[in-house]
Amino acid sequence: MRSLVIVFLFLSFAFSQKDAIDYQLIIAAPQKHEVRVKIEAPVMNSDTLTFAMPAWSPGRYVIYNFSKNVFDVRAFDNEGNRLQAKLADKQTWKIPCKGKTKVRFEYSVFANTLDGTFSKVDSSGASVNGAGIFMYVAGRKHLPVTLKIKAPEQWKIVTSLKRNENGYYQAPDYDRLIDSPVEMGRLYVYRFEELNKPHLLVFHRPVRQEILRRFENDLKKVIRFQAGLFDGELPYSRYVFFFSLSPDLKHTDGMEHLNSCRVLLRMDIDSIDCDANTDPDYDNLIWLSAHEFFHTWNVKRLRPAGLGPFDYSREVYTPSLWIAEGWTSYYAYLSLVRTGIYTREKFLSELASRITRYERDPGKKYRTLAEVSILTWLFKGYIPVYEETNIDKTTYSYYYKGLIAGWLLDILLRSKTGGSYSLDALLNSMWNTFYKQGGSDYYLPGRGYSEQEAEAMVVGQIGEAGGAFLKKVVHSTDPLPYEIINKAGLRIKYNNTRKRYFIEKIPDMNESQKRIWRELTGAEE
Ligand SMILES: [Zn+2]
Repeated sequence: MRSLVIVFLFLSFAFSQKDAIDYQLIIAAPQKHEVRVKIEAPVMNSDTLTFAMPAWSPGRYVIYNFSKNVFDVRAFDNEGNRLQAKLADKQTWKIPCKGKTKVRFEYSVFANTLDGTFSKVDSSGASVNGAGIFMYVAGRKHLPVTLKIKAPEQWKIVTSLKRNENGYYQAPDYDRLIDSPVEMGRLYVYRFEELNKPHLLVFHRPVRQEILRRFENDLKKVIRFQAGLFDGELPYSRYVFFFSLSPDLKHTDGMEHLNSCRVLLRMDIDSIDCDANTDPDYDNLIWLSAHEFFHTWNVKRLRPAGLGPFDYSREVYTPSLWIAEGWTSYYAYLSLVRTGIYTREKFLSELASRITRYERDPGKKYRTLAEVSILTWLFKGYIPVYEETNIDKTTYSYYYKGLIAGWLLDILLRSKTGGSYSLDALLNSMWNTFYKQGGSDYYLPGRGYSEQEAEAMVVGQIGEAGGAFLKKVVHSTDPLPYEIINKAGLRIKYNNTRKRYFIEKIPDMNESQKRIWRELTGAEE
């Protein structure tokens, strides 16, 4: 055993040294919102190396064509001689390199948009999201990567990537390079341990001690609860929460990554009261943090087919974003109610407000939940500002219907199995089947699940009732079967005056209803 380990270590070391692709990110003129990227790639007997900019970024299912911000493209051989860089399509350059050992490919990128997908550089710092900054070498995304960052000396640099002894950041492959955002500038970094793993909280201004303590305390509860749903362990060595919180923020956003997330909210952290039940700003902060953190499992590791490793050149379709996003939203609510951060009343009022949002959408008549997942590529941010469409009347968000579907499925599973199965158990089965025992390629352990595989697990537990539920809720435009919530001792009502739904507890719940209500919310009774 021991000698095998040594051989393996030697081989992996030799591999990473010889065939690594070296990236440099140079921030020489931040006031112009420009960065320079240099990529050195081994030729490895190829006649041509192909460099391409992703058209989209994982987690944001829109074709953004990041190459529109690329300019001043050049290529050189290992001796510094200029090579031809031939533009092959809107995002791809081909470099003839027969007989060369290395190609250096470099370009500039304009970056002045702060959100969870684009990047922003200015004289105060940089918020780097990799898919819009770093090109990949076609056919070589699996090779290990190093990243050297040249930024103004006084800037702090934080990323979830590890650093080697030379000060270079390292990623096992291109996918994980661009899944690791980098924040730079005047940063305030706080650290806590949970389940023996370090967690960093990155802010752009100092946070008052009492606010920090209460927020950290709530985050720890969320982390423990979510890890407990899987195998009680955190699947990373270090996790970074990047917060951009300011009343002046233009866009609010959240974005999940493998070992980090971004939370961008229009708020003043100094004025929050740290009670999610009474303070909408704190509610947004803890809820969005819980949502993005849950993606550590659901979508970043337990993933629909196509979502890792990724084809960055074009749309990657999946009908399962209702699981990836809808269930994640549902588990953000569960994380808060089962840890006592939300009251049960707040939990029910949040679910009712999501139902109100969904039911107001006229588009629910036209598209199934699986269809809106596939069609998302057409809608979000893809419409020219001057084009008139009626999409606000013909489609809807899989976040809302997906979270309601997750909730109804949870109650159905608990009720049909007398409490021996639940959505928690289903997630855990999926985690074991597709992530832990799903094989692996160069990317992460496991493989993507298909829609049929996920649905078969529901039917495997509760038979025809599961099949009928999925057919109605995921694959039809029929009204949602809200009567299922009666099984948890709840009922839904519409208030005509206030034009919204309410959920209330049924007086005199029977034992089965009490049990499901307790299991769902962690209530005493
Ligand atoms: Zn999400």
